[in-house]
Amino acid sequence: MGAGPSAQGTVIDGKAIAATIRGEIKDKVAELRGSHGKTPGLAVVIVGERKDSQTYVRMKRKACEEAGIASFHAEIPETATEAEVLKTVRKFNADPKVHGILVQLPLPKHMNEERVLAEVSLEKDVDGFHPENIGKLAMKGHEPLFAPCTPKGCIELLKRSGVELSGKNAVVVGRSNIVGMPAALLLMKENCTVTVVHSKTKDPKRVCREADVIVAAAGSAQMVKKDWCKPGVVVIDVGTNSVDDATKKSGYRLVGDVDYDNVKKVASQITPVPGGVGPMTIAMLISNTYESGYRAITGKK
Ligand code: NDP
Repeated sequence: MGAGPSAQGTVIDGKAIAATIRGEIKDKVAELRGSHGKTPGLAVVIVGERKDSQTYVRMKRKACEEAGIASFHAEIPETATEAEVLKTVRKFNADPKVHGILVQLPLPKHMNEERVLAEVSLEKDVDGFHPENIGKLAMKGHEPLFAPCTPKGCIELLKRSGVELSGKNAVVVGRSNIVGMPAALLLMKENCTVTVVHSKTKDPKRVCREADVIVAAAGSAQMVKKDWCKPGVVVIDVGTNSVDDATKKSGYRLVGDVDYDNVKKVASQITPVPGGVGPMTIAMLISNTYESGYRAITGKK
């Protein structure tokens, strides 16, 4: 039994779905500005000069601008102390023009990420990493103010692709705090029966073969093979791994955690890498920021 429409190997176009969502948010931001004369704002804190982090931050700022969301920025040198980062977070916590605060990870080794993330005010935790938001994600009868962007993006892809989740067997490969664990909790909230595969799982192939929906987030290139998948499975591939490729100018290409070309032959729906989950992460950040701004500006839930 597949979880989605029966067409074999339908590609879930994350880029197109993310563009639609960003367009919807742009309209809602304009409406809010029209009715209340205010716009939501996102503050991004980046520490150090990691090229990948700078690229992500640039993309996030651009997406904000396109949606009409105000963007604020703090660039802190690698040599700064944790106290300086905490001070910046507190400044944004107190700023009424800021509705979302994002601390770009990873932080330099001499800083305690947990302490810094816990400093972000609960109402502005658009990344959804505050322990109280994660705790509410895990509790029946509670809803977090924000769910983490990448796993939320996975659920949104499934819903917008017409996948019925209630009662389905979902397997999440990976249990990290930022992807696997919250993805499993979100799927449970959608009434899936969830199994989590991790590095100590004895027979991941057998576990995955039971799945109607697989969310792969292990960071292990093309690990999920065709014979791990039952016909009709829906596959969401979060992995982004670079592998050597002499045919590319850069010398490498990005692949997911799923053996895409082969799994596509048995899956009913599947996300590509790139162009699947990646664009959704930023769309969900913009969505969380809008929701936070809406709550603060209108005083409504
Ligand atoms: P982590 O390295 O933090 O976690 C990986 C998880 O996968 C761990 O729980 C680990 O198990 C498990 N795992 C690793 N190898 C295996 C294996 N061979 N078999 C079974 N389980 C395994 O990674 P992240 O969660 O941060 O990221 C996962 C992937 O998603 C990466 O490729 C990352 O680049 C990508 N990513 C993509 C994003 C996007 O926007 N598209 C955003 C965030 C991440 P254990 O706990 O036992 O160690």
